[in-house]
Amino acid sequence: MRIILMGPPGAGKGTQAVVVAERLGIPHVSTGDIFRANLSQGTPLGLEAGKYMSRGEYVPDEITNAMVRDRLAQSDATNGFLLDGYPRTLDQVEVLDRIMSDLGVGLDRVVELTVDTDEVVTRLLKRALDQGRADDTEDVIRRRMEVYAEQTEPLTRVYAMAGLLVRVDGMGTVDEVRDRVLAAVQA
Ligand code: AMP
Repeated sequence: MRIILMGPPGAGKGTQAVVVAERLGIPHVSTGDIFRANLSQGTPLGLEAGKYMSRGEYVPDEITNAMVRDRLAQSDATNGFLLDGYPRTLDQVEVLDRIMSDLGVGLDRVVELTVDTDEVVTRLLKRALDQGRADDTEDVIRRRMEVYAEQTEPLTRVYAMAGLLVRVDGMGTVDEVRDRVLAAVQA
């Protein structure tokens, strides 16, 4: 199973990605998590990515694409993966297509979680308090939502045209949303 999980910041994407990947027995590949791990270890990749992350902007495609190509070539991803937070730009969509065709595999589903904007802001401010993420201040949250609408929402049209997109209501408990996502990917 090769799946992309999409959704605006605060849609519960990261939480769902972990539980759904675990249920399906595939690795959860989160570009945000990989950047944060590099940032906390102070690697050159992390320091470079951190400049963009702290402003709510996207890390440049060359950096992100190379990192994903390496990650998807690792042996645990041979039989499937769940991508969380990638692709986010049209350039990344094209690169992912190439990466997957080089690996001789294809995408099974793209799931977009949908939520109400006010609910999203509330969730993100709560996460900022719980986890102390530097990119969860109110201004940065707003900027991340604008960037999602401008740069990432258009990707859903590409995947809808390819017949891969399923929209899933992201409102509800973690278990309710998980069951909807599992039903959507297994349908
Ligand atoms: P996330 O945890 O998925 O919300 O990602 C946190 C931050 O990491 C984003 O706001 C971006 O700055 C950066 N990031 C994660 N994934 C990507 C991506 N696919 N392309 C560019 N930047 C990314």
